[in-house]
Amino acid sequence: MTQKLALFGGPQACTSKPKRYNPIGSEEIAAVTSVLESGVLSQFLGTWSEDFYGGPRVKEFERAWEAWFGVTHAVSMNSATSALIAAVGAIGIEPGDEVIVSPWTMCASATAILHWNAIPVFADIEAETFCIDPSSVEANITDHTRAIVAIDIFGHPANMAELSRIAKKHNLRLISDSAQAPGALYRNHYAGTLADIGVYSLNYHKHIHTGEGGVAVTADENLAERMRLIRNHAEAVVGDKGHTNLSNMIGHNFRLGEIEAALGNQQLKKLGKLVAGKQAAAEKLSTGLQGLPGLRTPVIKPDCTHVYYLFPLLLDSDLGIGRETVLRALEAEGVEGVSGGYVNVHRLPIYQEKIAYGSRGFPWSADFCRRDVDYRKGICPTAERFHDSDCMTFSMCMYDLNDDASDGIVEAFHKVWRGLDELKALPGE
Ligand SMILES: *Cc1c(COP(=O)(O)O)cnc(C)c1O
Repeated sequence: MTQKLALFGGPQACTSKPKRYNPIGSEEIAAVTSVLESGVLSQFLGTWSEDFYGGPRVKEFERAWEAWFGVTHAVSMNSATSALIAAVGAIGIEPGDEVIVSPWTMCASATAILHWNAIPVFADIEAETFCIDPSSVEANITDHTRAIVAIDIFGHPANMAELSRIAKKHNLRLISDSAQAPGALYRNHYAGTLADIGVYSLNYHKHIHTGEGGVAVTADENLAERMRLIRNHAEAVVGDKGHTNLSNMIGHNFRLGEIEAALGNQQLKKLGKLVAGKQAAAEKLSTGLQGLPGLRTPVIKPDCTHVYYLFPLLLDSDLGIGRETVLRALEAEGVEGVSGGYVNVHRLPIYQEKIAYGSRGFPWSADFCRRDVDYRKGICPTAERFHDSDCMTFSMCMYDLNDDASDGIVEAFHKVWRGLDELKALPGE
């Protein structure tokens, strides 16, 4: 029996609304209460002393993060944005250096580069994983390239073997923005641990959160120490600490408070279970949507796991119907959390106008910028096409999908696909 689409006045397919995702429980409440009762909500000091490294919960959180991810150094910060800025500064970037990054990401992956007056150069993404395409990275390398920022976007690891090979060959640093991929695996290593520096987010809409927060990890003690300096007023500390390398030792206050660290300690204990929950829900969606013509469910590459910050879908151009009509029909069926496209960072006004610091085109206009970097539409055709027409995402980290809610979403897609011919008859299609 074919039912009338909700868009045309029929009954909705989704009757069970998904619950909002909330990983915070009584353990977090107890942990926060104990910080409040202690009266010390942050123990950082911006001078050289033991408290330069933060209070007891910050240290406990960093040691726990190191143990969980199997890394030597974890440096907590007040956001992943801060951690990315610290990472780019720590690798000793110079003004005018070029850093290759994907445009299919949250804007901070690229602004962390600009922050040090270095120049983001955008490489295209792979169609399968949406992560930076190593061949496009290679094509964008110049004499000025110093680093690559690879993003494990949506929760699927980037092609780290190939990116590491390229980085080694061209003597580049590799930074992994794993904000969306805590717990994802790449060849039995956690995403974020295969680069010079990996970065995670604890922002409230990520898998685990502390309200705001971030973590940078590295196996390199020197990079870890430089990030700890940038985190905490480096310029006030380098002298007493006896550091002679002053490059990028302009410090910030990127410190995580004791309340957030206490939350992080509890959240980290739940990470494995929370990720497994996302994976189970996503697999149910993938299975349910399998076989709908012209719709591609998430691809998982061999030796990788996906942790589904977002659940990406691709529409085939042969479908004969535009993405906006599909979205309207799904929304009418009661599906929440599905949206069209993702980010094309290179198309943001600051790159189009090349105006970042001040109003006169700095840093691009400065003498140290040795070539005219192109940000025009057309430089990243796959990312652009996916944003403009082919990609839809479901916000896995906004919702807690129980079986009824997943079944409703799957049924809504099937119903819309059964009604494709009627949708094609709509004006504008
Ligand atoms: C969320 C996110 C960030 C920024 O994280 P914050 O902790 O909010 O600063 C950076 N990169 C990616 C890919 C993200 O998804």
